Order: sequence, then structure tokens, then C-alpha cells
Amino acid sequence: MTANHNINFEELKSDIRDFLYSYIKVESFSDTSNEKNIENFFLSEMSKSDYFKANPEHYGLYKIPNDYLDRCVCYAMVKGRGDDAVVLVHHYDVVPIEDFKNLKELAFSPDELRESLLKVLDSMQDDVQKDLIDETFMFGRGCADMKGGGSIQYCLLKQYGKLDDFEGNVIVIGVPDEENLSAGMRGAIGLLCDLKEKYNLNYKFMINSEPHQRKDFSKGVFSCGSIGKLMPFFYVRGFLAHCGKSFEGLNPVNVLSEIVRRTEANMSLSDATMGECAPGATWLYMKDSKVTYDVSMPLSAYGCLSVLTLTQTPEELLSKVKTICIESFEKVIADMNSSYKVFLENTCQPCKELPWKAKAVTFIQLFEEAKAAYGKTFTDKYEALLVSLGKSMQEGELSIIECNFKLVELIFDYVQDNSPCIVYGLIPPYYPSVSNIKYEAADQKVADLFDNLNAFSQSEFALPYTKEYFYTGISDLSYIQIEDPASVRNAIESSMPLFGKIYDVPFEKIHEISMPCINIGPWGKDFHKMTERVNTEDLYIRTPKILDHAIREILG
Ligand SMILES: [Zn+2]
Repeated sequence: MTANHNINFEELKSDIRDFLYSYIKVESFSDTSNEKNIENFFLSEMSKSDYFKANPEHYGLYKIPNDYLDRCVCYAMVKGRGDDAVVLVHHYDVVPIEDFKNLKELAFSPDELRESLLKVLDSMQDDVQKDLIDETFMFGRGCADMKGGGSIQYCLLKQYGKLDDFEGNVIVIGVPDEENLSAGMRGAIGLLCDLKEKYNLNYKFMINSEPHQRKDFSKGVFSCGSIGKLMPFFYVRGFLAHCGKSFEGLNPVNVLSEIVRRTEANMSLSDATMGECAPGATWLYMKDSKVTYDVSMPLSAYGCLSVLTLTQTPEELLSKVKTICIESFEKVIADMNSSYKVFLENTCQPCKELPWKAKAVTFIQLFEEAKAAYGKTFTDKYEALLVSLGKSMQEGELSIIECNFKLVELIFDYVQDNSPCIVYGLIPPYYPSVSNIKYEAADQKVADLFDNLNAFSQSEFALPYTKEYFYTGISDLSYIQIEDPASVRNAIESSMPLFGKIYDVPFEKIHEISMPCINIGPWGKDFHKMTERVNTEDLYIRTPKILDHAIREILG
């Protein structure tokens, strides 16, 4: 018998098709207990492979530490020669299907869904109509984002299991919760550390297979990194007054509104590098503290803003946030004084200024203030609230955002200074920005990978690829590089009330296994919409071949 070194791409194509049709049928909505459905499906699929039958210790489930849904990471490894390893990652959670309306039952059945969509063709946008008629795309929830990429990874791995003398090691991890807080990927870091230790692995690259979007339909996109996300929060404590005595109070809604106007789409918060730019910041949540109607002003108002980052650090952003808080507060006080002046003149009173001073403190400063005043009485209450908030969050009664503000509110009960003030900080999740920029400078092989893959795709499929450093869709790759874990931990711990309690990122472990990364996934369109779809030529033929080429280049 001759040694087998080559993949059977015809077999791979039908494997991917079969795998994906079954994979999407297993319901796994993000942040629900049915994500666990995938675990048994995964075990049963892997157990069919001769390689994993012979090597049962090379695949399994890894429990996510402290996960309230008790979810696991699915992993499988083909162990070849040497220590070098490539990690392929994908998420198997999917977003809800509300917008499928009367087609919900077909959301996970691509062929039936296509037929039904063809019946309402006229109601679809032109590009959707074209893709339905041409049959160049597969429709269905999760087929693009991203069980398509996941199926390619698993089926390619099973092919590697059939080869003789495979050079290097390939690990596939399937994770839940990417569309929510990335509990899966944050948990998987521990698994990768364990595997590294146990098998003495030398991690060379992490490859994600999220679908790529095309601006120019004739060019694919490889992302050599992933955009970061920080969520600054603002809690404004005003000074309560009866609406008939409005100059006796300070309305927090006024201050928060000024902050909102100064931050929404403010490009000084969005950094740019290498010809790429983070999209404008946008507010995701804003409320005041009133629960009933009465004639008093609200006591507080709060909200949070999503800021995407390329190279901006948490410290840099928080310092901009502080300046915006102070300037917004000063502007509101100045405006209020002008109005007050008119009021005093019209009521024949002597001119005077309002008592307010602009004040902005970090969450930790406020915490220390309460601790200094009340000591253990305060910290006991604080710890007890954390525990009960954790429970409420797990039971779906409170969102992570509401938990954050309940904590800030509690601290105010123990702060003696009653003057108006802004508290700012960060709300989970935190997605670090990652890219290969520094790895490329240090390692020629990393620097050459894009050109190499692009040349391969051009010669095999006459399809050119463009390169971007930051995948803007936010992805799990964010948790695979960190340069200075101590300073990031310090910045996050002191500004994120929920950090280390309800939410955690294993910065030091990420640092231990940091590696360059790339996204190689099939072309997809309309993620999260009813018309989510994946290009079948990419899914079955092109992406698997490019992925195989990349893996062999890295391990070769
Ligand atoms: Zn995705």
C-alpha cells in the first residue's frame, strides 16, 4: 500500500454538504440552554471517523469554567509529526429567527426555504432574487454565520485523520455564545493552555472561518486580525428638585444628553491605522431612573456606548471619556447659568450663579469613597448585591447592563457627597483588538501568508483576495492575542464593576498562547437576516482548498 498524503476533495465536498445540513438542524440559539444540543451531535459525528475511533483521547468536550448554562467547548485534534499546531475555531451559536415570520419552520432547511422564498421572489431585493434564481447561494439560519465555516473545519480535519505521516497538528474548536458574550472562546483559552502543556504544542496560527463580506463581488477578503470593542458607561447623578423649582435642581437627563450628542459617531473616538478605520461609536442603551410619574426630576440617568477599536487601548479611550464628561458637564452648567440669569432678571432678583461644579469620577474612585466612609458595612452589602445580581442575570431577569447600574446605584447610597456627579467606566463584554501587524514585522512567514494564499486562489480559481487587518464583524479571534496582560487587566479591573465577578477574560492565559490569526471563511451575505446565505462554490470547493493550503503552508 502506498502512503496517502492527499485529500480527497470530491469526498470532502459531499462530507461538508452532509455535515452542514445536519449541523444547522441542531438548534443552538445564542445564550440559551439549547446550545448544549450541539455537544452530543459533535460527539456522535466525531465517533464515526476511523481516526477518532482509534484515538478517542483526541476529541471531547471541555467544560467552560463557571458557565451558568453549563456549556462546553467541543474540540478535536489530529496529531501528526512534530509540535507545531494550527488551531481552527468557529462558533456554533446562531441568532434568533424572529424575522423569518411565517417561514420560521424552514429556517434550518435550506432546500425548502429556497423554494418558499422563490414563491415570494418579487418581495425580495434584486441581489437576493439573483442569488435565489442562480442557485449560487445556500439560504438558512446559521449556514453562513457560521456553521458553514464550522462544517468545512470539521470535515477537513476528518480528512487529515485519513492521511499518513501528517506534518504538524490541527485542532478544531467549536464554541458557543459568540453572538452574546463569547463565553465559549473565553473558556476555550484554558483548553488550549491544557493541550499545549499535555502535548507540548507550539501554536503557530489560529484560523477562524467566519463568512467574509464582499464590497466588490469579484474579490474575496482575508482578515488578518479582528476589531476590538469597548463599552464605556456613563451614570449621571443629578440633584433632585420639584419641576416648579427647576433651578434648585440639576437634571441628569440634561448632562447625559450632552454626553450623547458629543459621543455618538464622534470620530475622535474611532481610531484608524493601515488605511482602515473603526466605524463610528454608537449608543446601545440609555435610560433615566424614574419608574413612575411624579413632578420631580429623575435622580439619575445612565447609558452605554459601543466603541470599536483598531489599536486604541482601554486607557486611551477612558482618558477621552473623562475629558468628554467634564466638558459636557461644564457646558450644561454654563447653559443653566444663562437661563438662570434670565429667570432672575425677570423676577427682579439679584444676579447669582448656580452652585454646581463639574465632577467626573471613575467607578473605582466612587467605590473607594464609599469604602472609606462605611468600611465593612458597605463592602458586605456590595458583595451580597453582586451575588444576587449574578443570580438574577442567570435567571434572565436582569441584563448585564442593568446589573452594572444597580452596582453603581448601591455605591451612591454610601457616598456622603450629594453633589451632582458623573461616574464612568466600562461594561462587559470587552473584545480586545488583535491583528498580525506586529507578527508580520517579526516573522517573514506570517508576513508572506496573505500573498501566498492570494496567489494560490488566483491560480486555482482565478479569484483574487484583498487583505484587511481587522475583521469588522467582531469575532472570537479577539481572545487570541494580548501583549501586556498586566496593564490591560489593571485598566479593565479598575473601570469595569462586573469584572472578575460576573464576567472575566483570562488575559494572562491568552498571553501564554498568543499567536497570529487569520479569518478564512466562505463568502456570505445578510448575516442575522432572513436572507442569510453562503456561496456554495466557496463552501464546498474554494474555501476548503484555501484552508488546506494555508494549514500546510503554516505547518510545512
Ligand atoms: Zn459569526
